Amino acid sequence: MTDSTPSPRKAAIYLRISQDREMDGLAIERQREQCEALATYRQWEVVQTYVDQSKSATDRTKVRPAYDRMVSDYKAGAFTAIVCYDLDRLTRQPRQLEDWIDAAELRGLALVTANGDADLSTDGGRMYARIKAAVARAEMERKGARQSAAQRQRAMQGRAPKGMRPLGYATNGDVIPDEAEAVRAIYALFTRPAHPESLRSLARALSGTQDIEGITPRPRHSHVVSKERAQRRIAEGKEPRTIEPDGPWSPSTVLGILRNPRYARMSTYTPKTAQADGGRRRSWRAQILRDDAGEPIRGQWEAIVDDETWWRAQDILDDKDRVTNTSGSTKRKHLGSGLYRCGVCGGKVTGAPRGYGCAGHITRTGPAIDDYVTRVISARLSQPDALRKRKTADDTPETAGISAAIAEQRGRILRAQRDYDDEVIEGRDLKRIREAAEARIAELETERLLQARGSTLAPILGVDDPAAAFQEATLEVRREVIDTLATVTLRPHPRGRKGFDPDSVEIQWR
Ligand SMILES: [Zn+2]
Repeated sequence: MTDSTPSPRKAAIYLRISQDREMDGLAIERQREQCEALATYRQWEVVQTYVDQSKSATDRTKVRPAYDRMVSDYKAGAFTAIVCYDLDRLTRQPRQLEDWIDAAELRGLALVTANGDADLSTDGGRMYARIKAAVARAEMERKGARQSAAQRQRAMQGRAPKGMRPLGYATNGDVIPDEAEAVRAIYALFTRPAHPESLRSLARALSGTQDIEGITPRPRHSHVVSKERAQRRIAEGKEPRTIEPDGPWSPSTVLGILRNPRYARMSTYTPKTAQADGGRRRSWRAQILRDDAGEPIRGQWEAIVDDETWWRAQDILDDKDRVTNTSGSTKRKHLGSGLYRCGVCGGKVTGAPRGYGCAGHITRTGPAIDDYVTRVISARLSQPDALRKRKTADDTPETAGISAAIAEQRGRILRAQRDYDDEVIEGRDLKRIREAAEARIAELETERLLQARGSTLAPILGVDDPAAAFQEATLEVRREVIDTLATVTLRPHPRGRKGFDPDSVEIQWR
């Protein structure tokens, strides 16, 4: 035996004051005293004390500078022991705790807590810590559930939801007048009884690639919102995040606007689980909160459209006819009614008895115009490149297939309902099944709505001679083809001129 004493183990003390409610009352000085006492008892040399103030140990996004410094100092070999008051002070992120347990097991780190609940140098202590990690994980999940409940309560009170602001509303729920005007115009043009605008033409009008009276082109909403966010961050002295580029509006964005119950002052709530469900959007209607009498919970904000308009938009969107006939809902006799545009106002022309008209602007004889348009479109379809840019039957799911899938999901809901009535399943199972099926239905409906055009065109674009197929197709299909390929604008008939003048019909390729 020699008389030289072994150099003591180098230890770090980690202290944290948390804002977490259950941790109130334990002053940092008391933590420090107890940790130092424990280090002395173990005959360890305290080389460094790390202190984080008011940092949550649970939230991975919150920065804990002292903790991070301790981690890198440990990796650099500055100490081989850690003393903390309890494991909750050190970390409540299961993964971080696992790392410390591994360090104890594989690299001999000594980790002890002043409250005596863990000593990672023993098997029992490590097992305790692993259980602790599992408990912490469960606690995090419970916390998430609590937050959801708080959000739902917020919505039940009709308070403006958090998250990305919709077009027309500021983050605090106030109406933004010029944006609200755009929203109103979208609803009005989409729901008007005569010649409603399609999602696609509304998107084009917002993008400035098509003139529709009442719609002013505007930057894409996601671009505007990300720019605002960046400005807010700069004002708060934070690093701004990248701004989403501007670009054309998509029909699905317009669809999202038309489906959002918030515009009619209806309060909505999306459960966290649904949000996390692969980014799938639940049916908006399923998100409307209702009171015991089934009436929608009203928001504390101003409505931008009235109930009637909102529900009419839903009916139109739900209407299966729209699926195969996106340019109008009634049977048509004329090729261009509700399709060709007025050269004066840009609105869609109506089918007059012997032609096309827009009140006060133009009256034109029909057959010559239709012949001309048919010839130009046929010529276009004869060019080999006309088809390449378009979807073919191969990459367009058949509408029938989508409809069947929707029917299947509806069947799932009905079966679950029956099982619930028979007390085979619990209410929460019914709810889960219904929500999942509704989410899938919403997804399928969107797909069907947006792709119906593609499948309508499949018989034309999939054949060897599309021009001939076009000429032989039904009126509805021909209309779809024209609408897909071009904008046809009729100018007033030149005065004093006899016969048909091709210059009076403008065909602009999309
Ligand atoms: Zn007009």
